[in-house]
Amino acid sequence: MTDIKSLYLPELSEYIKSINEKPFRAKQIYTWLHKDLCNGFDEMTNISKDLREKLKGDCDLTDIQKVTMQESKEDGTRKYLFSLSDGETVESVFMRYHHGNSVCISSQAGCRMGCKFCASTIGGLSRNLLASEMLDQIYKIQKDTNERVSNVVVMGTGEPLDNYDNLIRFIRILTDENGLNISQRNVTVSTCGLIPGIKKLMEEDLNITLAISLHAPNQKKREELMPVAKSFGYEDLIDACREYFDKTGRRITFEYSLVHGQNSSEDDARELSGALKRLPCHVNLIPVNPVRETGMKAPNTTEVAAFKNTLEKNGINATIRRELGRDIDGACGQLRHKRQTK
Ligand code: SAH
Repeated sequence: MTDIKSLYLPELSEYIKSINEKPFRAKQIYTWLHKDLCNGFDEMTNISKDLREKLKGDCDLTDIQKVTMQESKEDGTRKYLFSLSDGETVESVFMRYHHGNSVCISSQAGCRMGCKFCASTIGGLSRNLLASEMLDQIYKIQKDTNERVSNVVVMGTGEPLDNYDNLIRFIRILTDENGLNISQRNVTVSTCGLIPGIKKLMEEDLNITLAISLHAPNQKKREELMPVAKSFGYEDLIDACREYFDKTGRRITFEYSLVHGQNSSEDDARELSGALKRLPCHVNLIPVNPVRETGMKAPNTTEVAAFKNTLEKNGINATIRRELGRDIDGACGQLRHKRQTK
């Protein structure tokens, strides 16, 4: 069976040709899937019944189901839990910003990267998500809220560059003018630093933002928090980022979760400034969200502000991330896990 929602329009056209249907049917079907966000072949009312039956026989049409939705009383952020066709669950978060609505999607069910502060990795990786299952998270949320989604961040559960081919397919369909037509500039992919994936990504000719989860000022400290650092060294990672900028002209975002006593001192900030020198970038500081299993603590607001000031004094752009949806565990690294340990 073909996963029809993961097909590019030219691939869908090939299939339509192979079953001797008129070429324009491909565009009609693609529009139903990616613009009208339909959930079943029988909704495709301008497609003949015979063709609909043929599609049902040949193709899978993924449709994720909303299991729960929690809405933050503080800021209207919504956290969705969806179940996939095989019973796996994934979470996605809907956030309202002044510049538009943003959805944070998961790219895998679980994760195998093992970052010490992250709850998503505790149960390991179950499986990769299909491109269609990544799209479905956005499609469902847009339908559920009845509001246009204009920004997408691949920052939920999973390591997107560990699911590379499906990720690229997802981005191209998401930003296709025949689909939701979300601007590539409004798509951010966050990675723990898989260098081969970063190098491939810079050749794709995509205008997306790359976010790197750095979280440390040097190799030694990074290894303590992120096992992936043992495979991909600190300097090589920064070099890959420079190369990414040179190739794409897109400024890199570095995410830096502040963990009291580990990476949040002024010395750490100075060392980080040195490491990022002359690299067009932006540092997003996130006081670590406590996860019961980790025992890690966030620094207090004075320490966070001092860290930011030190970066800025050294010419590094930095912001402290406003955490939306804290009251619903919508914050980074907290997705999916709670349900599995209940
Ligand atoms: N695997 C990708 C994307 C998912 S994680 C990556 O590593 O970037 C999204 C972001 O949340 C990453 O920067 C991650 O390091 C961060 N994060 C995970 N757990 C966190 C926690 N408990 N507190 C703060 N940030 C966390």
